[in-house]
Amino acid sequence: MNFTVLTLFPEMIRQTASESIIGRAMDKGILSLNTIDIRKYARNRYGAVDDYPFGGGAGMVMQAEPIFQAYQEAVEGKDASKIPVILMSPAGRRFNQQIARDLACYDEVIFLCGHYEGIDRRVVDEIVTDEISIGDYVLTGGELPALVIMDAVSRMVPGVLGNDESAQEESFSGMWLEYPQYTRPRVFHDKETPEVLLSGNHEAIRKWRLREAIRLTMERRPDLIDEERMTKEEKKIYQELLSK
Ligand code: SAM
Repeated sequence: MNFTVLTLFPEMIRQTASESIIGRAMDKGILSLNTIDIRKYARNRYGAVDDYPFGGGAGMVMQAEPIFQAYQEAVEGKDASKIPVILMSPAGRRFNQQIARDLACYDEVIFLCGHYEGIDRRVVDEIVTDEISIGDYVLTGGELPALVIMDAVSRMVPGVLGNDESAQEESFSGMWLEYPQYTRPRVFHDKETPEVLLSGNHEAIRKWRLREAIRLTMERRPDLIDEERMTKEEKKIYQELLSK
């Protein structure tokens, strides 16, 4: 899978990506990363790609033409209709694990990182296929959101994680948050590891983990719970915990 990022800060993307799980996957040839510096297409000798907003108001707006040219470079020689172009935007739909899963099905995804007050709407309307927010807060630029999404999507691409199962059992893979984890030593600051995890009884361990996952989700994220989607076993545990 290839990620292309249209950005004013290509180094920020490259450096962070090369340090992380994406870097390892790039070394293995499973992922590739292409950054395109929007400033390369500045129409003046100062390299400025922003201008005052029509109608007045605070801040600057990224101009349409340099972004359009960066996009053209990204899709040159490719079937552009098969490549989603995602604008990082606090006004976009909220990112989640399902969106990460959906994006992982593409061979290539293009991210467009905004800055200043945002981007001239006309180029957004022309090239962008989806607008995504990573949460209800405003950052200074789209690079961190693009990196967040690339990281989450990468983990869904087969072969990227050392052990493919670790992406299947974790939080948001189903309805439940992940159960608590323990490792050596057995006792830490007088706190014992739950006995069942040392028992070697795989079925008992599975049941304990499921119960803990349900308990934790009920405590922290009841909004994720949907009784309709529960298995018989999950429903039984859920009812038991509810009645406590
Ligand atoms: N004026 C814009 C608004 O009120 O929605 C905010 C612009 S913000 C300062 C600059 C850029 O950072 C945005 O164009 C977007 O690319 C990125 N950005 C900021 N917060 C974001 C978020 N929560 N999710 C995704 N992108 C974000």
